[in-house]
Amino acid sequence: MNLILFGPPAAGKGTQAKRLVEARRMVQLSTGDMLRAAVASGSPLGRKVKGIMERGELVPDAVVIELIEERLPATEAAGGAIFDGFPRTVAQAEALDAMLKKRGKSIDRVIRLKVDDEALVRRIAKRFDEEGRSDDNPESFKVRLAAYNAQTAPLLPYYEGQDKLYEVDGMGVIADVAAAIDKALGPVPASA
Ligand code: AMP
Repeated sequence: MNLILFGPPAAGKGTQAKRLVEARRMVQLSTGDMLRAAVASGSPLGRKVKGIMERGELVPDAVVIELIEERLPATEAAGGAIFDGFPRTVAQAEALDAMLKKRGKSIDRVIRLKVDDEALVRRIAKRFDEEGRSDDNPESFKVRLAAYNAQTAPLLPYYEGQDKLYEVDGMGVIADVAAAIDKALGPVPASA
């Protein structure tokens, strides 16, 4: 199964993706994690995206599309992919559909984690205190939320039109959100 975990920054996508990796033998593809690793390594890619990420803006589509394309074969050897933080623009979504189609695959489900803006701001303030991620500071977070609303939210009708969108209340405790996601995904396949 290929799954997109969809939602604004701090909706809980990463947390839920990690649980699904354990439960369903799937591979998490987090473009945010990949980009942070590139920044930490000081590679040319990392140097290119560091400032963009710190400001809370989106990196160019071509950069993240390439990162994802490189990793698709490994997801097929496992139980499928969990896309976390990708796609974030309509161009990325169209590129993902095309890349998967070329490989005889497709997106099976898109799970939207719904969390209201006030809760997101509270979560981010806590994460900033605990983890000190530079783009969790209040100014950058405002830009990230604006980027979500302007560039990423328009993907909802894209996936609704493909009849793949499932909405899950992301406001509850982690276990309740996990249970709601499991319900949307159905039973774990016997091969997982
Ligand atoms: P995340 O950890 O998913 O919140 O991503 C952290 C930052 O990485 C974002 O604010 C963007 O600057 C960049 N980023 C991650 N994924 C993408 C994407 N799919 N498209 C563009 N920029 C991205």
